[in-house]
Amino acid sequence: MSNSSDNAIELQDMTCGFCSCMCDDINITVRDNEIVDTKNACEKAHSIFLHQRHPPTACQVDGQSVSLEQGIRAAAEILKKSQSPFVYGLGQTTTETQRAAVALADYIGAGIDCRATAASGHFTAAVQQHGQVTCSLGEIKNRADLVVFWNANPLETHPRLLQRIGNDSKHVVVVDDTNTATAKVADQFISLENQNNFLAIREIQSCLKNKNAPQSELPENVSPWSDFADQIINAKYGVIFVGTRAIESTAGYPFSAAILKLIRKLNQFTRFSCLPLHGQSNSAGAENVLTWQTGFPFGVELRQGYPEFNPVGCQLGTLLDQASIDVAVCVSGDPHAALTDHQIASLGRNVSLIRFCDGTTERELESNVSFGVAPFGISVAGSAYRFDGVPLPMRIATASHLQTREMVLQNIQSELESAQ
Ligand code: SF4
Repeated sequence: MSNSSDNAIELQDMTCGFCSCMCDDINITVRDNEIVDTKNACEKAHSIFLHQRHPPTACQVDGQSVSLEQGIRAAAEILKKSQSPFVYGLGQTTTETQRAAVALADYIGAGIDCRATAASGHFTAAVQQHGQVTCSLGEIKNRADLVVFWNANPLETHPRLLQRIGNDSKHVVVVDDTNTATAKVADQFISLENQNNFLAIREIQSCLKNKNAPQSELPENVSPWSDFADQIINAKYGVIFVGTRAIESTAGYPFSAAILKLIRKLNQFTRFSCLPLHGQSNSAGAENVLTWQTGFPFGVELRQGYPEFNPVGCQLGTLLDQASIDVAVCVSGDPHAALTDHQIASLGRNVSLIRFCDGTTERELESNVSFGVAPFGISVAGSAYRFDGVPLPMRIATASHLQTREMVLQNIQSELESAQ
């Protein structure tokens, strides 16, 4: 921290929470509890840091402003009467909040999920079956000579990622169906229809098999992926980043499983890793917290008093379609992002909605109880996980007049416990 002459304070090496890169070298200048400048932040983060507005009210019940205590009592009352509550939206918040959300779900016997859509768990489900060779951002920066972005466009989704891995000294390949912004600056672009992702990985696998086969047994038609297979085999240290479009496609699971098996195979020849490039910050934390508290990374039912893994059924969109929940607790994020209009319409009407908003990305939505909370990434201390699974500290840049999500969740649970 350094002070300048005009009472401005520069907070150094702050962690940015606005994408899963979680850049931890951001300098933020604060004057009179307001962010006036940043250094090292990308354009997107700089704009959020400077223009973030804290929600004006601590709480609303049925659209009317009430005190926080009244809101907590109203939320507890709704949850007490609920037969089938559901807790979701665990990204873009601290690990401490995620832990409080799991504790509340456990206490009320709710289902809980951290996925935006059922499909976003494909990669994690494949990791459970096949394991994952992983690595840290530091290893990529210092050791990798080949980086592949498969259906990932970090220049738009994770603007500083290329800079942070030191892309100038590496061969960067983009495999995608569109000539994205990242593809335009990459050393090589391989155009591939998304629907052929799985087949392409199978082709690369068979090219690798042929590497060990005698020349006479090689097929006559050499695969178009043969050169790419040579490239990855000859890398000293390679990494494949898999984007959400590949993971969340209909063939997301077989593709994820195939790429994880390919990476294992590649480690017989050289050193190779694979990382999913999730958009939301601290998605990795949500899976970690759910796993260490329940034994499962997503889609967990706690209704029976013990955790049950229900990856297909325990997902907000599915549950709204089946009309099988009566209360939804949205801890973080914007429900509009992943739900259909029909599903959105049932929230707050057929299904009571308890919602937390910090003014970052949320759109208007009819809620039974809506808590205005301190903005994540600006006014909340705690920890959060980068996409490579490294936990980082989150520090407060400007103080908020509002409570944190963690505190409100804990207070709702205390209210329920005291009513017992
Ligand atoms: S790349 Fe992501 S984490 Fe880094 S400054 Fe930009 S939004 Fe923040």
